[in-house]
Amino acid sequence: MTFDSMWSAIAPIGREPSTGGYRRFAWTRQDAMMREWFAGEASARGLDLVTDRAGNQWAWWGDPDTALAAGRPGVVIGSHLDSVPDGGAFDGPLGVVSALAVVDALRTKGFVPSRPIAVVNFVDEEGARFGIACAGSRVITGKLDPDKARGLRDADGVTMAEAMNAAGHPAEQVGPDDETLRRIGTFVELHVEQGRGLVDLERPVAVGSMIWPHGRWRIHLDGEANHAGTTRLVDRRDPMLDLATAVLAARAAAAAHGCVATVGKVRVEPNGVNAIPSRVTAWLDARGPDEAGVQAVVESVGAQSEGLLIKESWTPETIFEVRLAQQLSALLDDAPMIVTGAGHDAGVLATAGLSSAMLFVRNPTGVSHSPAEFAEHDDCLRGVDALAAVTEELAR
Ligand SMILES: [Zn+2]
Repeated sequence: MTFDSMWSAIAPIGREPSTGGYRRFAWTRQDAMMREWFAGEASARGLDLVTDRAGNQWAWWGDPDTALAAGRPGVVIGSHLDSVPDGGAFDGPLGVVSALAVVDALRTKGFVPSRPIAVVNFVDEEGARFGIACAGSRVITGKLDPDKARGLRDADGVTMAEAMNAAGHPAEQVGPDDETLRRIGTFVELHVEQGRGLVDLERPVAVGSMIWPHGRWRIHLDGEANHAGTTRLVDRRDPMLDLATAVLAARAAAAAHGCVATVGKVRVEPNGVNAIPSRVTAWLDARGPDEAGVQAVVESVGAQSEGLLIKESWTPETIFEVRLAQQLSALLDDAPMIVTGAGHDAGVLATAGLSSAMLFVRNPTGVSHSPAEFAEHDDCLRGVDALAAVTEELAR
């Protein structure tokens, strides 16, 4: 099993022919196929597969509990196998396939770890189906209430509990999982870069230093439905105009504070071509290097919209363990440190007080969450080499 053969094995799973993008949503048939593939790879290597209370899969090389009793918790590498709607091939799977390739590489060179090593597949990282990102890591760290998780509904009204049970994972097990967390000495997640930082630096691999604070807000704007042809402009109460003003305000505030702001989802009622809307609901995604900047973006929308602004989620800034990040950078030929605006399971674990780090592999276009997402084959293999070096250092 080489990197290439693993990559080709999963390439067709959940791929939508009309777009070329992936639709691997948590607890669907496509997700089950990815999980079965992962279990098969674990078994082929003689790794012990453990599924935790949230449904995350851990493939252990060495007994984590014996090692834990001796004060040597494991080194965990891996990422996730689910995708956003029409996502790319690399976001998630690159980290899992690279981690399995690292196990092979270390064994080939005869490395005998003094700590157990696990490859992890975190479930439901993208939150594409039930709306909460990093659900698997949030559940085990107690950051997502089990009852709330079970009750989340997808677009068809199916609850997460129903979807889990149908996929063979008992939903009543869902909850914080200290036994799983105790086994993690250090977690290192390798991920495709979701920007062009490494292209400009002309380096194939970087170490993550922090994740920007980020959040989602829902904006409700009310107006009055009326005829598009017979209602004079002065008589209109048009919430679409308020939304347009709010979007421009968010953009201006984001530019002024070095942040980013996105309104990518809008619901219009009654949604007719020739009717002034009675109500517009929109979602604002705002992120930036500091919380004050992000707050300024949100306030600019609040000031402009005169509507209702409801916070749906908020993740404060995540600083990865500085000494660990510096250690990895030094080990990797002074690899550059980069910040990211995207959330990751490694960030959730770091927030929960676990030692965690990230490696990023160069993405020539910077495009992510799209079928155009890409990394050069050579860079992928250099990512495997980097993760192998890091794993060997941490597990020696
Ligand atoms: Zn990802």
